[in-house]
Amino acid sequence: MTYKISVIPGDGIGPEITECAVNSLKSVSERFKIDFKMIEVKAGDIALKEFGKALPDSTLNQIKSSDVCIKGPVGESAMEVIVKMRQLFDLYVNLRPAMSLPNIDSLKENIDLVIVRENTEDLYRGLEFNAGESAVALRTISKKASKRIAEYAFKMAMKRRKKVTVVHKANVLKITDGLFVESVKEISKQFKEVELSELYVDACAMNLIRNPEDFDVIVTTNMFGDILSDEAAQVAGGLGLAPSANIGENFALFEPVHGAAPDIAGNGTANPIAMILSIKLMLEWLSNNKKDEKCLNAAKAVEKAVYDSLKNNIKTKEIGGTKKTKEIGNIIASSILNYKS
Ligand code: ATP
Repeated sequence: MTYKISVIPGDGIGPEITECAVNSLKSVSERFKIDFKMIEVKAGDIALKEFGKALPDSTLNQIKSSDVCIKGPVGESAMEVIVKMRQLFDLYVNLRPAMSLPNIDSLKENIDLVIVRENTEDLYRGLEFNAGESAVALRTISKKASKRIAEYAFKMAMKRRKKVTVVHKANVLKITDGLFVESVKEISKQFKEVELSELYVDACAMNLIRNPEDFDVIVTTNMFGDILSDEAAQVAGGLGLAPSANIGENFALFEPVHGAAPDIAGNGTANPIAMILSIKLMLEWLSNNKKDEKCLNAAKAVEKAVYDSLKNNIKTKEIGGTKKTKEIGNIIASSILNYKS
């Protein structure tokens, strides 16, 4: 089986960290005999400059013919790239895990949570307009989207510690978040083994700092999920370590949570781990979606390579190390190649 992967290097630190991820995938391919056909495509500020469009048709066509996409962060044109792709490919789940990692300072030990963020609705539909002296943004929440994200969250919880927290602000946003919470509760009836609790988004923001280790699966709407996942990433150790997945019925896109970080672009200090752990999520998705056991083993190898490098204090500057992006990428790629199960 050959997997066709579209690769978007993106802007800022994107190309530097994407190169590391591609090298890791080459090692996976060699070590596990999985055939990847990787095709580089342009999107983001760089494409806007070259083609006048942040998401050119040629890029979209390549992505449409792929099994999966990996994407570095893009700069100012992020809205025209990732938000558009989530809607175009109906990537309705945004999975953002946050976990304690070896040798990394986190607020608490034993953090192991995942934010399941609804990815297609809410204020991020971009439905904004001027109304005289005012400006209006429309927040759309549907029963269909709320139920399907809830179902994903409960299924995920069944494979984990069987706890779901629905995060909302239904005391203020009575109609929109009211519909979201009711939909989650309706789905919860199909998952009697899973314990469901509720938190207002402000309380959740506080508890993520106070007792992050108590959370298992958090399910929430688009904007709350975006904000809380940056917080969770920082609580667990920093944005440079936080991977994410955008998942639809038959297609998925993997990218780090962080942005293009223009402040450090080009100086070789970008942490490639968020991007490499996104590859691990990709391999897990392939193993589930294509029923390919080899991909599951490969995902374990990627995780072990990352954990071993951190244990050996191979770290970038923002997490207290001195190593450069490329060095870390090479060490992880070679560790995958030498993985012993
Ligand atoms: P966006 O709005 O697209 O999320 P941003 O500029 O608000 O972008 P980031 O680009 O994510 O935020 O960067 C926030 C801070 O985190 C910056 O100081 C940046 O240097 C740092 N940072 C982000 N990613 C990494 C990384 N992979 N390695 C090291 N530092 C990083």
